[in-house]
Amino acid sequence: MVDQTKSRIIEKNRLTELLDKLAQDYHLIAPVRDNNVSFRRVESGSEVTLDYINTVLSPKNAFFPQTETLFRFSRDDSRGFRTEPGAEADREQVIFGIRPCDARSLRLMDMVFNGQYKDSYYLDRREKTTLIGLACFDPAETCFCPTFGIDPASGEDVDILLSDIGDRYLVEASTEKGAALLDRFAEFFAELRGDEEQLREARKAGLAGMKKLDVSAIADKMAPLYEGDYWDSIGMKCLGCGICTYLCPTCHCFDIADVSLDEGGERFRCWDSCMFPEFTLMASGENPRPNRKARVQQRFFHKFKYFHDRNGELACVGCGRCLRYCPVNIDITQIIEDVTSGKAGNE
Ligand code: SF4
Ligand code: SF4
Repeated sequence: MVDQTKSRIIEKNRLTELLDKLAQDYHLIAPVRDNNVSFRRVESGSEVTLDYINTVLSPKNAFFPQTETLFRFSRDDSRGFRTEPGAEADREQVIFGIRPCDARSLRLMDMVFNGQYKDSYYLDRREKTTLIGLACFDPAETCFCPTFGIDPASGEDVDILLSDIGDRYLVEASTEKGAALLDRFAEFFAELRGDEEQLREARKAGLAGMKKLDVSAIADKMAPLYEGDYWDSIGMKCLGCGICTYLCPTCHCFDIADVSLDEGGERFRCWDSCMFPEFTLMASGENPRPNRKARVQQRFFHKFKYFHDRNGELACVGCGRCLRYCPVNIDITQIIEDVTSGKAGNE
């Protein structure tokens, strides 16, 4: 149901102007089309595209950059070292156009970066970010987010949700941060006309056929598959390119290294991938995951067992990127079906 007190509309022809304003006041990150559609920092509303199902890269880069300097170090006069922060304090940022699946992935990332260890770099950006989501009414064939209890038309994990209902967007604030932004830019928003609920329900009809798999027992069903042949053929196919992990909104493996520069240096963090052999390579030359079978197996055990054992959630939001862009068509939905049906255990 539309909450009349927290909802407004914006006419479509005013959206670019609103985005222009947001870009003046915030670090605005929104979908931009070049060869593909990706989230980028934009300076004006005219750079933003709304003609996309989902971006190729998820917006995780805005919280957990592909490469970031953690701190710099240099020698001081007493032959010791001094350090200084690596990143300038980021401005408040708005992510516009995030889909509900990617918004849910941040809830999972929070479990990692705000769990036993508090990652101040990630948490600072999270704190300074307002999420403006875009309801998804025309999902791709590869989308299967309802599998994980995600409603593609829901604003559950964003601050504000926009729903395209024809000549206007329904604008719903679901947090205080979202309501504050609506108040601040109130000149762009108008009162509901009364038919918004009906129009949105009509658009939701397109979601009825979405793939929804039963993953309720998948963590238990994974355990006996640690031994066995099921992962052999998948490991044989996998190229170890890491595309699946780089595109995945929930994958968060990283490496940390120091680089020396003149009299000092810097410590940086960059994305890594469990699909790369070096990820577990030790200084001794020993590698506990020495082949692609072991690495593929780890990826799926982490998503469907280890993360669940630790956090009570599965580490997938059904965005479909990994199956859409894997160069050899390794299909996570097929793996889910094999595991949950018992077929995987019989191979
Ligand atoms: S995208 Fe496909 S081929 Fe590449 S590492 Fe992932 S599963 Fe292997
Ligand atoms: S595992 Fe694949 S489908 Fe699941 S969230 Fe990651 S990229 Fe999306």
